[in-house]
Amino acid sequence: MSLPQRIEGLRARIQHACEAAGRDPATVELLPVSKKQPLSLIREAVGLGFTRFGENYVQEGAEKAAAMPELGFVLLGALQRNKAKAALQHFAEIQSLDRPELAERLRRLAEELGVVRPAWIQVDLWDEATKLGGCTERDLPALIDALGDDARLPLRGLMAIPPPDDDGAFLQMATLRDRLQQGLGRALRLSMGMSDDLEAAIAAGSDQIRIGTAFFGERTR
Ligand SMILES: *Cc1c(COP(=O)(O)O)cnc(C)c1O
Repeated sequence: MSLPQRIEGLRARIQHACEAAGRDPATVELLPVSKKQPLSLIREAVGLGFTRFGENYVQEGAEKAAAMPELGFVLLGALQRNKAKAALQHFAEIQSLDRPELAERLRRLAEELGVVRPAWIQVDLWDEATKLGGCTERDLPALIDALGDDARLPLRGLMAIPPPDDDGAFLQMATLRDRLQQGLGRALRLSMGMSDDLEAAIAAGSDQIRIGTAFFGERTR
């Protein structure tokens, strides 16, 4: 299948899921995840109007950002302390913020570099932390505190990778988002849903779905 065909298929799935949920498809952002995909495919996607791409590894994303500085790369994968500076230099957004020490470090470095990088907190309500990263619900307040109201690292929303085959997990995230929004008095977006579960994520209110294989095909690199 060609890239335009896969994207057309995805648009149809999103449309269908939105109809079922009574939502406007324009309210669901499709973020292509280009990890382990070649530059040639990313360029093809750019030709089809996409300008933001999710990447999991700092090194790989940095190389792609250097090759295509006009695009915005979003960091989705676990971020180690010693890669924090490179992440701020090469990525437009950080979605995998999951601990207070990292928030403090990113704030210091963003100030030093003079950059603004929207941040999303990766949440793990299902105890998958050792595998995929993510902040537990109990540790969330400390992380939000550590972020403060820093204009260089504005909090955009919550990102999650719920366990497969647990549709209730998306609703748990939606509930958490609502509660935090009320507590903080500002809007938070929800980034959840991947190739296999975008329908359930959209039904639960996801604002951004992150799609790898259903967008680009099998990963090659
Ligand atoms: C790889 C990845 C995706 C995309 O996964 P697919 O199943 O290929 O759609 C989305 N989010 C994160 C955090 C990922 O690591």
